[in-house]
Amino acid sequence: MKDRIYIKDLKDNVGKEVTIAGWVDVRRDQGKMVFFDMRDMTGKVQCVALPSRAEVIGSTVSHNFMDTAKEIRPEWVLKIVGIVNKRPEKNVKAGVLNGEVELEITGIEILNKAETTPFQINESTSGINEDTRMKYKYLDLRTERMQKNIRMRHKIIKFIRDFLDKENFVEVETPILTKSTPEGARDYIVPSRLWQGKFYALPQSPQQYKQLLMAGGIERYFQIAKCMRDEDTRGDRQPEFTQLDLEMSFVEREDVIKLNEKLLINIVQTLYPEKKIQEIPFPRISHKEAMEKYGTDRPDFRKDKNDKNSLAFGWVVDFPFFERTDKSDNSQAEGEWTFTHNPFSRPKSEHMPLLMDKKDIGNILTSQYDVVLNGYEIGGGSIRNHEPEALQKVFEILGHKIEDIEKNFGHMLHAFKTGAPPHGGIAWGLDRLVMLLQGEVNIREVIAFPKTGEGKDLMMGSPAEVSEKQLKELGIKLSK
Ligand code: ASP
Repeated sequence: MKDRIYIKDLKDNVGKEVTIAGWVDVRRDQGKMVFFDMRDMTGKVQCVALPSRAEVIGSTVSHNFMDTAKEIRPEWVLKIVGIVNKRPEKNVKAGVLNGEVELEITGIEILNKAETTPFQINESTSGINEDTRMKYKYLDLRTERMQKNIRMRHKIIKFIRDFLDKENFVEVETPILTKSTPEGARDYIVPSRLWQGKFYALPQSPQQYKQLLMAGGIERYFQIAKCMRDEDTRGDRQPEFTQLDLEMSFVEREDVIKLNEKLLINIVQTLYPEKKIQEIPFPRISHKEAMEKYGTDRPDFRKDKNDKNSLAFGWVVDFPFFERTDKSDNSQAEGEWTFTHNPFSRPKSEHMPLLMDKKDIGNILTSQYDVVLNGYEIGGGSIRNHEPEALQKVFEILGHKIEDIEKNFGHMLHAFKTGAPPHGGIAWGLDRLVMLLQGEVNIREVIAFPKTGEGKDLMMGSPAEVSEKQLKELGIKLSK
């Protein structure tokens, strides 16, 4: 729009005639004069329409703007031309954006009208029925709190990208249509039309790809990655969520921990200077000690839980690699074990012989490290098994048949036989980190278009049926 300026910049244009555009926030009709607040993505300003001005000046935009001013309603979209005036001393609102100025209207153009909205836009919607907010997410997004959450999320992601770029990382996109990856959850699957009876899986994480990138000589990879897990509804889980995923070659646990700690500290100190990190370097605790002392593997280290600005980060290390699938059974046969975190992890060096001999399986500790914040797990990773023999042993303990190992993980084993560097990495649950930094209690508050606890998108209406024709093309028949 020609000559449009942002509302935040009005204060620098006192005495000038300017153009703004945005939404009507509130409107106060005071008989002869009309007052209303205009809102754009940068803030709000009070506008005033005076009849004297309408008569004397008229306008290039609207000749009789008094009629228009009387007609407008909240959430209408307007272009406004006006003169930036200093407010009289007694009306100055100190410390508020545009508290010292107001816009005296010389012209109004209606760009779009708005029906009455199902909830107030100029108030926090935290108390509004969540299904209603989700159905009208585009309206919910207009509220100040949601605008802040989404914009801070962007700032955090931008900070991460800039930081990692400086640390010689490259962002690489990995496929969304892929093959089942074991991360311990159920896969979302996508039927193939060209290869009927075959299916893609949506990635539970880019785990295998990032390790293959290490075999590909990328050395330092990251990605702001979407991950999909078909899990039953639990707490604030989402069927799709975002990770900061990263992987590094020629590193040990200490290198990954140090880099991530530095990044987290930098994010807080730069973007949330009002917040205080309880302990630097972050304290570390073994899984065993965490269970004994806190009864959980994601302990809340906060000394003062009432202080909303206290951030207690910490690392949990030395997790058991395997756990029994059937806890009531004491046998230790192959196939009765599952991995606790990640089948691609490497045991702690001193436990490598146990893995290679498949002995004392329950006592093998992994190189896994989890990062926690105020009682939430916000990330986890490990140093990986880059030797094919060691990875093979893990799959044997998990009970995979030799043919299946070859079929499902042959590409990983081959990659590791052709010169894969030692490597390790981590993934953060980005939604959860943003939630905690923004002081929200639910990840849905920091995701632009979240799904309900039951995995529904109430605005788009998904999941949805597809046409007979689509099913036929895919060779799919639904059972009644
Ligand atoms: N892929 C793992 C996860 O999603 C993270 C990692 O080990 O890097 O939990």
